[in-house]
Amino acid sequence: MAAADSLRHILTQFEAAAERLGLDAGMRRRLVACDRALIVSVPTLMDDGRLHVFTGYRIQHNNTLGPAKGGVRYHPDVTLDEITALAILMTWKCALMGLPYGGAKGGIPCDPRAMSRGELERMTRRYTTEIFLIIGPDLDIPAPDMGTDEQIMAWMMDTYSMQRGVTVPGVVTGKPLLLGGSLGRREATGRGVYYVAVEAAKLLGLTLEGARVALQGFGNVGRTVAQQLSQEGCRIVAVTGSRGGRHQADGLDLERLAAHVADGGRLEECPVGDRITNAELFGLPCDILVPAAVGGQVTEANADQIRARILAEGANAPTTPEADAILRERGVLVIPDILANAGGVTVSYFEWVQDLQFYFWTEREINLRLREIMSQAFRRVHAAADKHKTDLRTAALMIGVQRVAEGHRLRGLYP
Ligand code: NAD
Repeated sequence: MAAADSLRHILTQFEAAAERLGLDAGMRRRLVACDRALIVSVPTLMDDGRLHVFTGYRIQHNNTLGPAKGGVRYHPDVTLDEITALAILMTWKCALMGLPYGGAKGGIPCDPRAMSRGELERMTRRYTTEIFLIIGPDLDIPAPDMGTDEQIMAWMMDTYSMQRGVTVPGVVTGKPLLLGGSLGRREATGRGVYYVAVEAAKLLGLTLEGARVALQGFGNVGRTVAQQLSQEGCRIVAVTGSRGGRHQADGLDLERLAAHVADGGRLEECPVGDRITNAELFGLPCDILVPAAVGGQVTEANADQIRARILAEGANAPTTPEADAILRERGVLVIPDILANAGGVTVSYFEWVQDLQFYFWTEREINLRLREIMSQAFRRVHAAADKHKTDLRTAALMIGVQRVAEGHRLRGLYP
């Protein structure tokens, strides 16, 4: 999907919610405009002695309800439009979950898998230096997203801290534990997807024991969702990555798959089950489908092949508005991204609070609070969908957008 499309899709979804909320044209303009957008050059010395100039983005969409919050993406397809779309989604997500944050996103078009550790570190440190002026624990707090991880967050935290002359753990979340990271953060997004999938299954009367699950993406999010649902008795019938994956109708051996990938092997070459393409994944008979990779994967071209009862959006913006309409008509329950994958930003919030207080919680406390917040959010969104006779996505957006609009009204217009 072209990145410009992801922005169009996000704005189409926003308009549907704004229309139902009866927001006037001025408020709508205010709500879609970005507070701040920074494009930076990231000159980086590569291992072969060449100088490569990457482009870095950091978009702060809205900070009405608090400091901006959002991940940093390293992926070849990153564009300004895509990062803008993802920043807007973060605003609605944080507001929906009741977190005291606005939305942001950052990224660099690059292929992290083709870069050495040294190249990644130099690029990350220069990018952090270039965006230094607009990030900080009370300003904008980056986190991991596709292609970035705890190590990248550690470099960002260190670079920011060295510039300030003091250690500032709260400038990023998703850090290593030793540097002020939180227990449970790495698994938080996947756990969150699992918690809302459990709620959705209850709603539909679907028994999880033996239920068939297909996932696109076997990274941080996909792997955790697969493990959690498998522990619940589900059969993980298919998993794919960027070049396809594996399928086994009676359930894949997840441990072997995870070990194969951890050893640097390609998912689609792991000798368990049969090989499957991404296109085939979406047509498989299954009960729960979890897109947990890139955006724009469920489109009008494949939505009518989907046979799942529940589609839980681990990824951001995996479903186009056209596909949404088809799925709605066919009775597939779509748990929208801003609800389904909000576990990550929720535990990022826990991490930030712990950093600000220099007081750390147990993993049990974190997981209990996360479960409670995710389950309550699901029920709130479902109740709103029932009340307004709409789908879960529009209902979730209505709650998020309404909160930000109310924040604008209460704060008024400066000066
Ligand atoms: P990751 O980098 O750990 O894993 C990404 C996975 O997607 C890999 O398995 C990769 O092979 C696969 N992939 C990449 N391009 C693909 C393509 N074109 N087709 C099929 N598969 C492809 O990333 P992640 O952290 O697991 O994030 C996955 C999704 O979840 C993203 O959309 C991200 O925005 C969203 N998300 C992540 C978090 C988080 O905390 N990590 C939070 C909220 C949302």
